[in-house]
Amino acid sequence: MSLITPDSFVTAESIAEKVKSGEWSAVEILDKYLSQIEQHESEVHAFNTVLEDEARTAARETDKRVAAGETLGPLAGVPVAVKDNLCTKGIPTTASSRILENWKPPYDATVVQKLFTAGATLIGKTNMDEFAMGSSTENSAFGPTRNPHDLSCVPGGSSGGSAAAVAAGFAPISIGSDTGGSIRQPASLCGVVGVKPTYGGVSRYGLLAFASSLDQIGPFANNVRDAAIVHEVIGGHDPKDSTSISEPFPSFLDGLEHGVEGLKIGIISELMGGVEGISPEVIEKTRQAASVLSANGALIEEVSIPASLYCLSAYYLIAPAEASSNLSRYDGVRYGLRVQGETLAEMNINTRTDGFGNEVKRRIMLGTYALSAGYYDAYYGKALKVRRLLAQNFDEVYSQFDALISPTSPCTAFKLGERTSDPMTMYVNDVCTIPSNLVGHPAISIPFASGNDGMPIGVQVLVPPMQEALMYRIASTLESAKNDE
Ligand code: GLN
Repeated sequence: MSLITPDSFVTAESIAEKVKSGEWSAVEILDKYLSQIEQHESEVHAFNTVLEDEARTAARETDKRVAAGETLGPLAGVPVAVKDNLCTKGIPTTASSRILENWKPPYDATVVQKLFTAGATLIGKTNMDEFAMGSSTENSAFGPTRNPHDLSCVPGGSSGGSAAAVAAGFAPISIGSDTGGSIRQPASLCGVVGVKPTYGGVSRYGLLAFASSLDQIGPFANNVRDAAIVHEVIGGHDPKDSTSISEPFPSFLDGLEHGVEGLKIGIISELMGGVEGISPEVIEKTRQAASVLSANGALIEEVSIPASLYCLSAYYLIAPAEASSNLSRYDGVRYGLRVQGETLAEMNINTRTDGFGNEVKRRIMLGTYALSAGYYDAYYGKALKVRRLLAQNFDEVYSQFDALISPTSPCTAFKLGERTSDPMTMYVNDVCTIPSNLVGHPAISIPFASGNDGMPIGVQVLVPPMQEALMYRIASTLESAKNDE
């Protein structure tokens, strides 16, 4: 069964324009989305919390400000769903973990604050894999999210709730986080646009950290332009994040329609069959995307990123290593759950034993092992060398190419339960998305085709750091080709 309705595709941009001109009221808009949530959320489970009352109060405030003649921001009256690992003041922020059940942060993440300043209405907090560890949203302590295109399938992960919320028409835009693909892979599986910005382009202040050198926050939308608008809203320098880039980025919207004439775009050969497990139909559709770009005047060539063959292994050492350190703060003392014990150490152990799910425990163990004195060089150190080599590979390729394309996900959405028994079959989902995280470059997934099972297939566009304007331009060309079909 598919929940996709034509109403799912009203753009955020048009909502904001009409709210600002007084043609639509923010409350009316919100009610439309709330009614879609009321009808289908019990089947999809995109949200951990739906903020009906708070959202209505905010939407009324927006309408009052319009009536008073105030100038509102680019997301005026636009409902937005935010992943449950982004701090929202006084509103539960759980990272879909028992250890943070009912925890309410004392402040808003910078991204959330920026969304409010732009006039957006926070409609809810979305479900995710616990602490963003997973590729199917089945690792949530509060039950899985389902794919709105087929409820027997996963939405991808870890930002599966945010992707499903946009795909099901519960919100025109949403926010996720991407450490190894957690925005792009669910975007691909749910048939929506998903963006991982340049590392440092969007503030991580108020994001519950998973792997700090890889984490980035980014938007989901139904179309490329909306994604670019949201990205402009949430991006920009933030002194509260020490890795935030201080130089301004060129506008993501200027030149969006300029096409790809004369650009040199590479297809990453390792991700077109070189690594195992990428389905032939995904490869074929990615080639079709390349043909579209070529028909629009781009020069397309296969290109090799040799280190991409080792990215998965490197990632599954670096990310757990950082996670094992980041998650040590959940000790029963400062946040959320506390399970008593005879001693402090026993209380720490009891809390973490009850509070964390299996995948989180697995990552903490992997990470702790990789960082332990006797193995540090053999595992963590080696992974860092792969990371450095990969950065060199990209630098070399980008001295000759403007951009790259590849599949986003090796396959279409799989069935719930199909991959939960073997973590390795879950980890390979990230093979195409991880390289951009390891080098901190931006990448986008755009819905491009459907598989034989009728499920969406996304294509990934990669560009050098801070070149998002170019990324959106290429994505926009692919999007128009799809719309012309
Ligand atoms: N699926 C990957 C993992 O489990 C990526 C997660 C993410 O990007 N947050 O680590």
